[in-house]
Amino acid sequence: MFNLCYNKGMENTKICVKCGYELLLEEFYIISDGRIRSWCRTCMSKAAMKSAKKILKKRRKFKVCIECGKELLKYSNRFCKLHYIHSATRYVIGRRCQKFTLKLIEKFDKNNICPYTGETLILGLNTHLDHILPRSRYPDLATSIDNLEWVSAVANHAKGTMTKKEFLSKYKITYIG
Ligand SMILES: [Zn+2]
Ligand SMILES: [Zn+2]
Repeated sequence: MFNLCYNKGMENTKICVKCGYELLLEEFYIISDGRIRSWCRTCMSKAAMKSAKKILKKRRKFKVCIECGKELLKYSNRFCKLHYIHSATRYVIGRRCQKFTLKLIEKFDKNNICPYTGETLILGLNTHLDHILPRSRYPDLATSIDNLEWVSAVANHAKGTMTKKEFLSKYKITYIG
């Protein structure tokens, strides 16, 4: 067991009780009451990663959401409804998406019919989140909640970089079941 260890009068190092290396104090997290953690940052993040992996393994085994451990969405082998939408949002509009997740669930629950094909949208099965005005042409609206809409995967692929108006004027999609 090591204690705080100052290197020949230099009061800026400490030995990590986990890896045993003597490291600069800045390599350690400080607890809110001012004390310094006994494990270095590297050891702490390694340990956190290890335990996260363990939880993940357990959740995969028991077939529950890998983010929260709740019941899986019927057509997802990884996420509950909340985290499925969370992950779709992150994929479509980027990391700073958390604030949109609940609004997007609300949007989905209000209307789960594709505006183009009339299909019933089922999360994890046939549903994509689409930019009404495509983000390649309207980058300013890329992260606007009002510019996002749930559509069927088929429609999303066909629409490509068209706006909703352009797409509606050019295509007539017939649902053939
Ligand atoms: Zn360490
Ligand atoms: Zn979840």
